[in-house]
Amino acid sequence: MAKDKTGVRLEGVNGLNPVNSKEIPIYISDYVLVSYGTGAIMAVPGHDQRDWEFAKKFDLPIIEVVQGGDITQHAYEDCNEGIMVNSGMLDGLTVEEAKNKITAWLGEQGKGEHKINYKLRDWVFSRQRYWGEPIPIVICPKCGYVPLEMKDLPLTLPEVESYKPTGDGESPLAALEEWVRCTCPKCGGEAQRETDTMPQWAGSSWYFLRYCDPHNDEALASREALEYWTPVDWYNGGMEHTTLHLLYSRFWHKFLYDIGVVPTKEPYARRTSHGMILGENGEKMSKSRGNVVNPDDIVNEYGADTMRLYEMFIGDFEKAAPWSSESIKGCKRFVDRLWNLQEIYRDGEEYSSKLESSFHKTIKKVGEDIETLKYNTAIASLMSLLNEIYEEKQLTRAEYKTLLILSNPFAPHVTEEAWEQMGFGGMITDQTWPKYVEEKCKDSTTEIVVQICGKIRARISVSAAASQEELLRLAKESPEIAAAVEGKQVLKEIVVPGKLVNLVVK
Ligand SMILES: [Zn+2]
Repeated sequence: MAKDKTGVRLEGVNGLNPVNSKEIPIYISDYVLVSYGTGAIMAVPGHDQRDWEFAKKFDLPIIEVVQGGDITQHAYEDCNEGIMVNSGMLDGLTVEEAKNKITAWLGEQGKGEHKINYKLRDWVFSRQRYWGEPIPIVICPKCGYVPLEMKDLPLTLPEVESYKPTGDGESPLAALEEWVRCTCPKCGGEAQRETDTMPQWAGSSWYFLRYCDPHNDEALASREALEYWTPVDWYNGGMEHTTLHLLYSRFWHKFLYDIGVVPTKEPYARRTSHGMILGENGEKMSKSRGNVVNPDDIVNEYGADTMRLYEMFIGDFEKAAPWSSESIKGCKRFVDRLWNLQEIYRDGEEYSSKLESSFHKTIKKVGEDIETLKYNTAIASLMSLLNEIYEEKQLTRAEYKTLLILSNPFAPHVTEEAWEQMGFGGMITDQTWPKYVEEKCKDSTTEIVVQICGKIRARISVSAAASQEELLRLAKESPEIAAAVEGKQVLKEIVVPGKLVNLVVK
């Protein structure tokens, strides 16, 4: 049944499907993209346009396994939407569900296991620069490339007068004849050192391990120190490092683990990435676009606290956000108002009854938001508490202290300064974080409806803790209700705490 030399079904050559043990035909072809791989490959003509074209050309069956398109016309590739069909136990599932199910099933059957494959971007590992780790390799005319012996490591950079590029494309080290000339570790003959140096990411892939034990001259770090300090609790960095530095440093770490140098398989216990701050026009800041905001200018104009506060308030931690000159003014206003609270300060070691619930809620919110990197919403809740305080036109000592501690991570200078000015003692940095009481985090006031004979006649705001008697009294005292029941006889009073009061009148 040979079709032609590019797509041949070998008569009698069949494979066994590893999942259902059914026979599957094998086609031999050179009609495969060179970058895809060699050896046996699978094909999904119903859902990959190149496979579909291949199947059409050689008149192979095209079986739909993900419903949603028209595979008689072209491959249906949008597999995020479709539902599995013609797939036995996977029928009716989404593709994502099917992947999980078949992976689990293969595991249970002992036919396979879940595995992650890493793909490192190719990394040119040499530079023609002075600054970089020298590569501990010598080039011998007889032996070729020979690594230095362990006793000669680490190879350090020579002290030089000038480390500028040579201008001829050679590494600056190449000009240092004395350093370059050496003996071959293998044959003892005259040889030359490699003069290229390693790229910056060589060192940045593992330098943090050295922090564990910086004075150790026997090893990278002692086992004891590494066991005490590593893995790194938290690596936060830019999104652009996710597939570069993060992956490279994990690659180095896994190698160091395999040769027994580090005690953990992974270098970092937690990884997060922050969004980029864009120019005011929503584009990446760059000199050529002329949209660069210089932090020094902002600090000079508004102060460091406003700058810091604004950077945390600008948006969700992991998302990109455009700079806004208007919005930074709001942050400046917050900082000023925090300071000016001194004018409405009064003594008092407790939260006032009106603000108590708001304080407990804000303590809870800010604490939880900091843990989950939601700095923007933490700051928003502080701003709203500040508004409430100004509406009350006064705040107690206890309230000011709590507010300053909660605001300190976002505006450290002004809060410490106010703390000292008020004579609260010590520094905010040394204070314990305020505590909240869960029951007091509920709204202190709630709105209830007042009905007359089942019809809503008024809505009143009451304390959430109000008793049934109190609710009834407040309901009757409200102007609309008082007017409506005047001169009438109240037959029945129904009170549903937190919801409503209904008066049946005649
Ligand atoms: Zn040699």
